[in-house]
Amino acid sequence: MKLFRHGAPGTEAPGILDGDDQLRDLTGRVPDITGDALADGLLAQISLIDPGELPLLPVETRIAPCVGQVGKFICVGLNYVDHAAEAGMEAPKEPILFMKANTSIAGPNDDVILPPGAAKLDWEVELGIVMGGIARDVGEDEAEAFIAGYCIVNDVSERSFQLERGGQWLKGKSADSFGPIGPYLVTRDSVSDPQDLELWLDVDGHRYQDGTTANMIFKLPFLVSYISRFMTLMPGDIIATGTPAGVGMGQRPPVYLQEGAEMRLSIAGLGEQRQNVRAGRGAR
Ligand code: ZN
Repeated sequence: MKLFRHGAPGTEAPGILDGDDQLRDLTGRVPDITGDALADGLLAQISLIDPGELPLLPVETRIAPCVGQVGKFICVGLNYVDHAAEAGMEAPKEPILFMKANTSIAGPNDDVILPPGAAKLDWEVELGIVMGGIARDVGEDEAEAFIAGYCIVNDVSERSFQLERGGQWLKGKSADSFGPIGPYLVTRDSVSDPQDLELWLDVDGHRYQDGTTANMIFKLPFLVSYISRFMTLMPGDIIATGTPAGVGMGQRPPVYLQEGAEMRLSIAGLGEQRQNVRAGRGAR
């Protein structure tokens, strides 16, 4: 199933894609797509509904973040060998973990807003894991059962805040709009091999990132297991699993996003995001 949320910020409601990729409204049929609802059997509930009998939504409907009320937004750093090399860092021996503020979460096509003082705005297309169960110190072989599904994440990053402001990476990762997720939460049973998906990102029509999730250093079940040793993963938590080579910081010379730039990014089978960059209040 491909699930999404729609509507203006604060009034989001659930929806589902039908077999013809049309947007169908689940308002009133099931609760909103949140961690609590996922824990309560939301996916099983939705699977009993025939999308064809649901009202169609207009194509211009705003697509909202694919999960609401996200508790934790956890990221894995340098999880592709080629990206570690372009960042001038060694491939890690253990996963590098950091977080984005959950207030950074935005719809997949919402504008990305330059915060005040931003000078090095960058992009990172990533496969996101959406947790479906409570995972506490789970083994690698049982980890998959705790995954509800997958989504696209753009781990938008401000490199000067991330790397030149005394640590930690959190500062450069957390501004409002820096975490577009979606368009869809694609349920686990609808992704045949999440470790074999092409992913790409264009800026103003130029393809900067073109990779495959096959090139992750640490694979998805290992990541869930590993993170669950350090914290309890809750339904609705999102794990951004790292980005392949081709970020702006890795270009020679570096390329950063300016006001008016357009990003397009996609992962095979998970849809596409499109964001325009605009200046926020007080931004240079
Ligand atoms: Zn990232």
